[in-house]
Amino acid sequence: SKPIVAIVGRPNVGKSTLFNALAGENISIVKDTPGVTRDRIYADISWLNYNFTLIDTGGIEPDSGDVILSRMREQAQIAIETADVIIFLVDVRQGLVDADFQVADMLRRSQKPVVLAVNKVDNYDKFLADTYEFYNLGLGDPHPVSANSKLGFGDLLDEVVENC
Ligand code: GDP
Ligand code: MG
Repeated sequence: SKPIVAIVGRPNVGKSTLFNALAGENISIVKDTPGVTRDRIYADISWLNYNFTLIDTGGIEPDSGDVILSRMREQAQIAIETADVIIFLVDVRQGLVDADFQVADMLRRSQKPVVLAVNKVDNYDKFLADTYEFYNLGLGDPHPVSANSKLGFGDLLDEVVENC
């Protein structure tokens, strides 16, 4: 069956925006709507000759608790268990934060292929230099994208399907 690609990352980094932009239609809800997002987190994506299923883990509801970090860890764990490739999404505007390191540690230990995408790079002249700090996550090359402006998708998807 088709490979599964999961988007993981902190709240508000743009997971749902990226998911919707890649899926090409609004099949995920951008704002959290408890009880509604559950069936809207999957999309079938085609890129070149590849087909894969994309999952927005931000729409996965936690079993318990609503502390952001524990919820993120739970979503990352589900991605590790189900996905063939993980897109780890971070936010160039907020920069590197501790929660990014914690999730990066989980992903690195899982030994699953991880593609690091740095979102909100709407303007390369302004933000590209700021993407280099994400090398510190130890997950390889940061791929600049703008989910809003649909920039950087080609390079990102090339890297994803190479790892499928
Ligand atoms: P999620 O919580 O990770 O699913 O994040 P959302 O997709 O809900 O996006 C959170 C906020 O970031 C929203 O206000 C989006 O409009 C904004 N956002 C998402 N992608 C981009 C982007 O590429 N550039 C900018 N400037 N804002 C973005
Ligand atoms: Mg979301």
